[in-house]
Amino acid sequence: MAHWSTLLREIPDFPKPGIVFKDITPVLADRHAFAAAIEAMAAPWREAPPAAFLGIESRGFIFAAALAQTLGTGFVPVRKPGKLPARTLQHDYALEYGRDRLEIHTDAVPEGASVVLVDDVLATGGTLAAALALARAQGAHVLGAAVLVELPGLGGRARWPADVHLHVAPAA
Ligand code: AMP
Repeated sequence: MAHWSTLLREIPDFPKPGIVFKDITPVLADRHAFAAAIEAMAAPWREAPPAAFLGIESRGFIFAAALAQTLGTGFVPVRKPGKLPARTLQHDYALEYGRDRLEIHTDAVPEGASVVLVDDVLATGGTLAAALALARAQGAHVLGAAVLVELPGLGGRARWPADVHLHVAPAA
């Protein structure tokens, strides 16, 4: 059976010229590849799962929800502005051009609860760093982060604290 990573697809110049987009949809569409990808992302937390996986909108939701079901934990969405209906905590962060914001429900994670952040791709690391700041501001104990793919050379790893586990699913 082909390794899940062979189904990852690169789409040049999407969503704009110069970006090579990592398309995960063929991995999700194949039940064996999807299951293997989740196993690969879950590995560090299988023995001692967190209280919840925090999925970053939007593709992080897919992986975090599957990880939560696989390891029997909760799932908490970290969303773009204006999407969550109840009271939120917010964190603004800089993009290459402009600013963005992530939000979490203030009652989603009890004080001191252990969490793992989840996204599909680590690129410049700004999104994951913002999610880490948000989760910590909420009082969560962040055990680490899990991503399916790391884009090397964009500095993402350097923006993540060296003493917090950053898990990238091993590719074939
Ligand atoms: P960054 O904050 O630069 O690490 O970007 C990470 C976020 O942007 C993740 O939520 C990814 O889904 C998305 N992203 C950034 N670059 C790419 C890429 N080349 N292919 C697919 N998704 C990307």
